Amino acid sequence: MVERPRHPKKDIERFMRSAEARGWRFVKGKKYYKGLCPCGVHLHMVHLTPSNPRYLANLVHRCSRLDCWCLEVIMTNYFLRLECEAPDADVATIEADLDTIADAFFDVDEVVDQDIAVDLSSKTVIFSLNVEAASEVRALEAGLGAVRTALHVAGSGTPGWEDHYRMLRQEIEADPRRAVRA
Ligand SMILES: [Zn+2]
Repeated sequence: MVERPRHPKKDIERFMRSAEARGWRFVKGKKYYKGLCPCGVHLHMVHLTPSNPRYLANLVHRCSRLDCWCLEVIMTNYFLRLECEAPDADVATIEADLDTIADAFFDVDEVVDQDIAVDLSSKTVIFSLNVEAASEVRALEAGLGAVRTALHVAGSGTPGWEDHYRMLRQEIEADPRRAVRA
């Protein structure tokens, strides 16, 4: 689970934790959290400083009306293969970047069994990994996040640097044998 900052209001924080137990994920923005339903379709904002005293009650009401709110969350293991191409970079640069990219990629906690393969003739880098997620959308999000993080670190913060690497192909495969209940 990704750590997120606590909500300043205790009762809302409690609601968010119960949602997380149902597979929801919250991403903090400036004035709200973005709440993502594990189904990959629903999205709800959670205000940081709501002034309406009925805010939480309304929020709970809206969420509990969702069909997927009561579904049991089944986490599935997904295998991802993400192929990137760096058509404008020269071979020496790709080779030089590779160690940094690999170090950062293997450091990402949310994914496992990371692997990197490189084909210098076509200037492609192939990232593969396994990730446990509630839906294919969430799995892809985690995988793309890991690759983006790795490329970003290798660019040492140069803005737009990771744009040199263009996503060519995304393959995702669920492994139902390894499905586990959350
Ligand atoms: Zn949903």
